Amino acid sequence: MSGLFISIEGTDGSGKTTQINLLEEYFKSRGFYVLCTREPGGNMISEKIRELIIDKENTEMTAVTEALLYAAARAQHVSCDIMPVLKDGGVVISDRFLDSSIVYQGYARGLGAKTIKDINKYAVNGLEPDITFFLRLKPGDGIERKKHQKDLDRMESEGEKFHQLVYSGYMQLCRSNKNRIKVINAARSIEDIHKEIVDCIEKLFREKGI
Ligand code: ADP
Repeated sequence: MSGLFISIEGTDGSGKTTQINLLEEYFKSRGFYVLCTREPGGNMISEKIRELIIDKENTEMTAVTEALLYAAARAQHVSCDIMPVLKDGGVVISDRFLDSSIVYQGYARGLGAKTIKDINKYAVNGLEPDITFFLRLKPGDGIERKKHQKDLDRMESEGEKFHQLVYSGYMQLCRSNKNRIKVINAARSIEDIHKEIVDCIEKLFREKGI
């Protein structure tokens, strides 16, 4: 695969969208074709599944149903959006990928990381990000940033305990994927965070000889 696949992870409000927008400009200014996308979503079918997942009316959704819906949205996303761009040598920046499912449904909902990896085996079809940035922000701080912005969706409106579990799940995942996942202190200025991300990408380019 000749392209570059980057995923951005973090709790809601940790600054993922903000950093993705800056990163898109960075790649465009260097002449790369770049696709910025998000999970769940990215295409019409996956966005419809997203609506089901985040709808606050869906209070009866079981953890397994939720995990399967994320995997279904991801299957469509990988084969129809991500893979074609990577095959053409482009850059894909995804707001969340499989790590989010491992953390939210595996750790926080208690299904276990192995179950989530098993469920997603056919969805990702062996694809893994070349590099992942985890924007680390204390649980609650991200939600606080977003509170003034809009109505919180079904996942965002989960209680404090859930967000704490998500945070510790991310920390555990980062420890066991040190080579791929870069932990970025997201409680700093937007510019400082962007600079650190770009430094990591340029290091990766040097290693890959790009
Ligand atoms: P996410 O996509 O992770 O939910 P956003 O990028 O939408 O997060 O950011 C959530 C809110 O926090 C926005 O209002 C954004 O302007 C603000 N924000 C983003 N990064 C920072 C930062 N480093 N410091 C302070 N506020 C930030």
